[in-house]
Amino acid sequence: MKPLLAGKVAVYAMLFLVAACAGSCHAQAVNETAIKGILKTNVQYAATGSGGELTIEVQREPIIGMQMNSGQVTNRDLQALKECGVNTISLRLPLGSLKENEIKETKRIIGMLKDKGFTVFWLSGLNPVSCERFLSSKADISKVDWKGRKINNRPCYRNPQVKEAFNKAMQECVQAMVKHNIYPEGIIMNEPGQIAGEFCYCRHCSKLFQQKHDLSMPKPVNLEESTQSSIPVNWPAGLPKAKYMQESGRVAWSKMAEFYCEPVTERIEDIFKHLRSGFSQISCQVTTLTDIHPYYGLDFWNGVMNIGQLDGIQTAIYWAVGKASPLTAGDERVARKFVGTAQKRGLSCYYWLQGYDCGDNSGPLKPGEIQVAVREAFAREVDGILIWSYLNPIRGPWNKPYGWDEYLVDLGEAVAPYLNKPADKCRVVVNINGSEKTVNGNGTEGWGQGGVYRIKTAKPADGKIRLTVYYPACRPLQQEIKIDDGGQPK
Ligand SMILES: [Zn+2]
Repeated sequence: MKPLLAGKVAVYAMLFLVAACAGSCHAQAVNETAIKGILKTNVQYAATGSGGELTIEVQREPIIGMQMNSGQVTNRDLQALKECGVNTISLRLPLGSLKENEIKETKRIIGMLKDKGFTVFWLSGLNPVSCERFLSSKADISKVDWKGRKINNRPCYRNPQVKEAFNKAMQECVQAMVKHNIYPEGIIMNEPGQIAGEFCYCRHCSKLFQQKHDLSMPKPVNLEESTQSSIPVNWPAGLPKAKYMQESGRVAWSKMAEFYCEPVTERIEDIFKHLRSGFSQISCQVTTLTDIHPYYGLDFWNGVMNIGQLDGIQTAIYWAVGKASPLTAGDERVARKFVGTAQKRGLSCYYWLQGYDCGDNSGPLKPGEIQVAVREAFAREVDGILIWSYLNPIRGPWNKPYGWDEYLVDLGEAVAPYLNKPADKCRVVVNINGSEKTVNGNGTEGWGQGGVYRIKTAKPADGKIRLTVYYPACRPLQQEIKIDDGGQPK
């Protein structure tokens, strides 16, 4: 019998995502788009007389996301974020008009993020691309505000001509993304509702509203004054400052918000459908403010939740700092509803964290407070946290800096307990036939503390075993393991 050639191991691991998952793993594909965690592995191969053995240490991490502007993506900053435990970046993709330089820039940024192993979410508004060039006539397509003022460059979502043009632009965008291999793991529709005062009063909308509800569209009162504040809601209750309407107008406003929600929900669904047609595994998610309907024109629970492609929901349960800490600034009850609903429906749920003065003049984010926010979020069993936004937590409009470097140290300490859990160990015995070069061990199940991992291996090509590790609601992790020549049976 040949001696055991253990120890001398060459592991050549390359992380990449499985682009498609056909046939037998279809059932898993449904779960994988929810992204409830990220798999990390450390693989060791040891040759034995009859073949070899893979020892696979698997760790599952929650999403730790940071929002960046595309201009902020530099190797230096990515390294700093990586070192403090950030594993996900959300950002707007500069694809607006699909010009050559935009595509080139998007490709460059996505490439840098993928090279560093980040999971990438496209953080998008309702207009990820401009549909201008597909509109034959510019007349009568603009949104109109309650004072009858035309809002240039803001087409009315309900206009069929606009919808058609938008779908053409979106189709072209996805085709370009496929062609240039611009593939984010997910898209997050970022607070897609509109606030009172942003609803459309165009001829088309007014007529339809009248027909539908036998009512004229309600118009806001005192709006110009009440929107002087950038966040016109009362914290910490998260309720809108009701100055924009008289209490007697509540029913009409509720109808108005629902009316507006329809085309917005449809638009989100269209965006998801287009992306899915190009990237079947893309994760489709929506984040919203906690429920401040009807001020906020998005009936999340009756609209967005019905979108078939929906994989994840998130809420901006912002963090109160200072006097009110450790209270969440948004509505706690609604925030919990997000987690509970997601768990029931198999969706993922992340909280957006932001530390700022929540209106009690308690002051800016202070050292140590991000730890409290992270701890409280995970105590509510979220699948991840997203931080809005890079640099802004300390340099943004709500805060005075206490030091970016210091902030990153605090963040790193805060997320460490959730990232450094003990790894689950799986063993796969592989029998390698020297001449055939096939590997057994397909469909092996590895038991870990957290459940069952499914492991698939493929035949070694050029001395490499291809290994795929599956875990429900996680992206399959694919690695190549180079079998050291010394351990390779001849
Ligand atoms: Zn309109």
